[in-house]
Amino acid sequence: MELLLEPTHLCADDVVRRVAKKDSNVSRATVYNTLRCFVDHGLLRQVNVGTDRVFYDSNTAPHHHFYDPEKGELTDIDRSEVSITGLPALPAGRALDSVDLVIRLKPADPGRE
Ligand SMILES: [Zn+2]
Repeated sequence: MELLLEPTHLCADDVVRRVAKKDSNVSRATVYNTLRCFVDHGLLRQVNVGTDRVFYDSNTAPHHHFYDPEKGELTDIDRSEVSITGLPALPAGRALDSVDLVIRLKPADPGRE
């Protein structure tokens, strides 16, 4: 799938639109199932930014994100730019897998700059 060739963040509807441009016979359900399959196999990373918004990220290496809800944009933050300290004790019998940081943005208050 072309979507995987360049680092990109797309929501499922973006993918549906892109696929429809190439082949209008592909159903929305097929696109959703394919995306889920790619996530399950580690080809895409799913990034949840809210209750109703999911992005599919072709960059599967560990990294963080800025999310701008006004623009609907997700932007990568290199892992080396963030240091997280003070994590709570993990539940017994569990190990740390990953920490995904999403920094949500809003318009800057021009009166405070
Ligand atoms: Zn990303």
